[in-house]
Amino acid sequence: MSSASIEHTIDGVRAHVARARAEGRTVALVPTMGALHAGHVSLVQRASELADTVIVSIFVNPLQFGQGEDFDRYPRTLDADVAALAKHPVSLVFAPDAAEMYPGGASQTRITAGPVASLFEGAVRPGHFDGMLTVVAKLLNIVQPDVAVFGQKDAQQLFLVRRMVAELNLPVRIDAAPIVREPGGLALSSRNRYLSAEEKRAALVLSTALAAAADAGAQGADAARAAAHEVARAEPGAVLDYAELVDPATFKPVAGDFAGEALAIIAARVGATRLIDNRATRIR
Ligand code: AMP
Repeated sequence: MSSASIEHTIDGVRAHVARARAEGRTVALVPTMGALHAGHVSLVQRASELADTVIVSIFVNPLQFGQGEDFDRYPRTLDADVAALAKHPVSLVFAPDAAEMYPGGASQTRITAGPVASLFEGAVRPGHFDGMLTVVAKLLNIVQPDVAVFGQKDAQQLFLVRRMVAELNLPVRIDAAPIVREPGGLALSSRNRYLSAEEKRAALVLSTALAAAADAGAQGADAARAAAHEVARAEPGAVLDYAELVDPATFKPVAGDFAGEALAIIAARVGATRLIDNRATRIR
């Protein structure tokens, strides 16, 4: 196992990548906001299978947080993150501060994510996906990896990143890793640490609602959606934001007569914490 070193500057990470390239090594990037958990580690493992040199970025990107969101209280645990990554095949942790990434203040130039960015997560988080794509584009340009690994946990993000890479002809392969869950089914998230024990119990409703949708898939998309809503409504500890079946090719809701592999997506507020989850769901 290699032990991860840390780099705070863009010049430094570029020099590290240049050395790897000079040795003929391929490079993978795993972008994160830190507060690392086993889900992030699974991305690192996957990255290490896809490339010789793994770079993990840790940056809580101010551009993708709206007014009143949790930017200020988002967990920042850099020392623990770097220590945890030392046990894994990580060559470098790139942890810039906001001044390094946005020396002129918030970037005036933004990637716009298009209409899908006003649905679901984008509907409640205006500007979130533009900010996310802008920082992902910057990280891809800084590191210039062969492959970047994202989690299926953030399905709308993954969809938009893939589309950006295709539409802007970015020379990188995007790879996706499956969702890592707690034994009870709760998808791991850096935001889970906000949850009390009772909230954690209530948060199980996200994965059980998705399971209900999958079970009802044989009766069609409307039945699957209704099944998820029914389960979600029965949990007083969670306020459902949306539960929907989307077409993985468009991220738009499927029609009632849809047949094939859909993606069941869900978001709910548990106490003050907004959680999301998703699951591939066969319809009919
Ligand atoms: P974040 O630090 O929340 O921005 O997440 C960084 C990356 O880790 C994103 O690509 C996420 O989709 C991925 N990720 C977060 N949670 C999980 C999980 N439970 N399983 C797999 N990947 C995850």
